[in-house]
Amino acid sequence: MAILSKEEVFAAAEAEKLWAGNLIPGHQGEGKRLPNVSPINNKRIGDIEAGTAADIDAAVKAARSSFVSGEWSRLSPGERKAVVLRWAELMEEHAEELAALDCVDAGKPITECLNTDMPATIDTFRWYAEAVDKVFGKISPTGPGALGLIVSEPIGVVGAVLPWNFPAQMYAWKVAPALAAGNSVIVKPAELTSLSAYRMTELAYEAGVPRGALTLVTGLGEEVGKALGLHPDVDVVSFTGSTEVGRLFLKYSAESNLKEIVLECGGKSPQVIFEDAELDGIENHVLAAAFWNMGENCSCGSRLIVHSSIKDAVLERLKAGLGKWKVGLPTDPETQIGPMVEKAHFDKVSSFLEDAKKQGATLVYGGRIHDTLGSGWYVEPTIFDNVKPEHRLFQEEVFGPILAVTTFDTEEEAIALANNSTYGLAASLYTSSLKRAQRVAAAIQAGTVSVNGFSEGDITTPFGGYKQSGFGGRDNGLEAFNQYLQLKTIWYMN
Ligand code: NAD
Repeated sequence: MAILSKEEVFAAAEAEKLWAGNLIPGHQGEGKRLPNVSPINNKRIGDIEAGTAADIDAAVKAARSSFVSGEWSRLSPGERKAVVLRWAELMEEHAEELAALDCVDAGKPITECLNTDMPATIDTFRWYAEAVDKVFGKISPTGPGALGLIVSEPIGVVGAVLPWNFPAQMYAWKVAPALAAGNSVIVKPAELTSLSAYRMTELAYEAGVPRGALTLVTGLGEEVGKALGLHPDVDVVSFTGSTEVGRLFLKYSAESNLKEIVLECGGKSPQVIFEDAELDGIENHVLAAAFWNMGENCSCGSRLIVHSSIKDAVLERLKAGLGKWKVGLPTDPETQIGPMVEKAHFDKVSSFLEDAKKQGATLVYGGRIHDTLGSGWYVEPTIFDNVKPEHRLFQEEVFGPILAVTTFDTEEEAIALANNSTYGLAASLYTSSLKRAQRVAAAIQAGTVSVNGFSEGDITTPFGGYKQSGFGGRDNGLEAFNQYLQLKTIWYMN
């Protein structure tokens, strides 16, 4: 398959030639299309196929038939590992192309796509390929009268429903462990960002993944996402997206076959800075947490909870640091802040700017809609001070570049503020005291807590939420296999 440079992808976007559609063996869809509009300049870059419930049904049939045939599910873990490693190699060869597709599709800065997203994506495939032949079963500690074997088996047909904010990486987080474990996987990418998923799936076939074991259905959530959620022959749906749509998947499951639902949903993550924190360089961590990927990040540290005695010093650092962040076209290698993913999302993010002012918060940085970059959906990185827990900006996920600042005076107050959220995905805390770090990390209700920095962990550590940020399993780490494997006890009696 031809390898495209980023310039060739940008030219194909300009010529409106980019395409993503269903990949289902032996099945032709209705051929309906949806225009694919880039947030960079609000221009059409091509089309995606508008999948239907019938396409989902065909994908499920292909997936089940592949699973039952054993063409993938009954390969030895070592054989699956070899294919997935070959796939990773192909993705590495196509890394620039895949990065450029995410750039034009989601408006993500090209440098981030090239240097962060693609290496992490490829690493994820390699890691699960290497891990899958090291998953051992167990023998129960029963007496000599019987032998209890506890083995893990692939569950069957897995639906992977993806968000638009890290298209290639979220594909990897779901598909790599699910497929390596021997399941048949049906991918439903976000309708706003299907391009890299389409290309990665084509590369999977080139690497030797059977076509029924990995299928792709593009199209609208309310059409194909819903059909996948309601399908009686899907065993698991692993969903990453908003808490609102996550709730719908629980309903779909209850109304159909009680399929397993794993939810990785939204967040409103706190960053807590104590008065004894080392302030030198702290802005780099705080700004990365709040503004990386334009704040379109589930673990975005969008609430800064800072001790009142150091608030001014911290804000000065943040303002100086943020002044160096370049807002611009995502195709420019210098850009750190690109556009919001689409007009509707831009409108939602912009509404927080107005509401925060109306509710009495103080604008300390940014606050404008960028109108100098043509017709894309750009919002300036923004900081509001004096945000109260009852404000919309403190409670609701913005998913954009807006940081809310709130002060505290005691550790107890800081913990209460950090936990004052329906979400519990991630948190950061800054302190020079090891004892305080241990105390507060234990008290914060979040799936990942970083101390003196911002991180989601890496591929070796499980990632997922407390409270309404999700449940049912974790992405990343060996723990991700648990979403896609079921336990069987085999009991031998004398
Ligand atoms: P979304 O919920 O709008 O969409 C996610 C997926 O669900 C898409 O594929 C979409 O097509 C599908 N969908 C939409 N409506 C549907 C419906 N009615 N029925 C079935 N499927 C439907 O989310 P998004 O806007 O793409 O992504 C942003 C959200 O994802 C944010 O809330 C963010 O925090 C969350 N997120 C979470 C994580 C995590 O690991 N916890 C990671 C990335 C993003």
